Amino acid sequence: MQLSTRVLNISASQSLAMAAKAKQMQAEGIDVISMSLGEPDMDTPEYVRRAAQEAIDNHWSHYGPVPGIPALRAAIADYHNRVNHLLTSNLTPLTFTQDEVLVSIGAKMAIFNAIQAVINPGDEVVIPTPSWVSYGEMVKLAEGVPVHVATSFDRQYCLTPTQLRAALTPKSRMIILCSPNNPTGSVYSLEQMQALVDVLRDYPQVVVLADEIYSPLVYGCRHVSFAAFPELQDRLIIINGVSKAFAMTGYRIGWMLCKDRNLIAACTRLQGQQLTCATMVAQKAAEAALTGPQDSVEQMRQVFAERRELICRLAKDIPGFRFSEPQGAFYLFPDVTQITNNHGSADRQKSQISSADALAEYLLTEAKVAVVSGSAFGCPECIRLSYAISTDEINEAMKRIKYAIEKL
Ligand code: PLP
Repeated sequence: MQLSTRVLNISASQSLAMAAKAKQMQAEGIDVISMSLGEPDMDTPEYVRRAAQEAIDNHWSHYGPVPGIPALRAAIADYHNRVNHLLTSNLTPLTFTQDEVLVSIGAKMAIFNAIQAVINPGDEVVIPTPSWVSYGEMVKLAEGVPVHVATSFDRQYCLTPTQLRAALTPKSRMIILCSPNNPTGSVYSLEQMQALVDVLRDYPQVVVLADEIYSPLVYGCRHVSFAAFPELQDRLIIINGVSKAFAMTGYRIGWMLCKDRNLIAACTRLQGQQLTCATMVAQKAAEAALTGPQDSVEQMRQVFAERRELICRLAKDIPGFRFSEPQGAFYLFPDVTQITNNHGSADRQKSQISSADALAEYLLTEAKVAVVSGSAFGCPECIRLSYAISTDEINEAMKRIKYAIEKL
């Protein structure tokens, strides 16, 4: 069948591909440890599972309103207002009402909707890299132009105001900022965000798409929402969801918040033609997650904090790994150029590991550990290791990686 150029131009997600490869090897009985996953390994909290079961028994099995169940939209607005007030106690952040919320199938769909609703063919979208795999592809689907701006190791992979100003042109229509960041684990401070907002003041046509899906997962620092900057209120779209914080990736519930109700209305029309509404049972479960006790989120955060300490300690002993400690999410993103730059070596095996792709492949076949090459995130100097696995698995995986790299 002849396929459209639209789909032919879309790359497959490398992180999903690596996770699938690891699963396939595990199914074949090979003892692979997967550090390629972008999801918590914990169970969805019991009270949320119970709410999903009750929703089934109470017949939440029909079509619902396109933008989401009103009670869930209200719960989302409350949740953000509550959390943002706590996090920015000395500021007066934006507050949201339920009409300023649109529930979608995962944060992914919410981001897709936002890009479709704002970007016209030829519009430029600034994406600091390393970046999550899907932003650039989604921009291309809207016939926009992704403008990738490489951030640096020395700046913890955060975009600087100078870089932002240099990247903006009269064609710029959007910037996508992800904090806490996948894949780098970086978290923008209030001051760093303020400096970017100062630049954006000169570019009022630029919409800020703030992907805050990892917001509760920060270690030793605060997550600051872009809602802390009321001056952005006419052009800010905040993305979040229950996938990461509540271990609910398979429920597929995410959302956007936006003070501009025209955008919410436009995305509601878009969504009405695409998916009608997010799954009703999952929406009821998400409502329970947001309105119920929040201790399980904090417990999961603490587990991730311990694993983060462990992986950083073990990674320091791996020759050629250069990294700064991640402040959020659940990924370590070491620069491996000291390993891959050895490609001039006379040694045959060494000479083959000349890129992060080759290193990821080598670690899979030699150490039986699945990691994702940084090239998937526009940063071919690094690899991404997810620590959303048990401490025993982290210990074993890092031992295997160290051994395999020392052999080179
Ligand atoms: N944004 C980032 C930065 C992510 O890492 C992910 C998932 O990996 C998403 C959005 C999508 O989240 P969801 O599973 O809710 O669609």
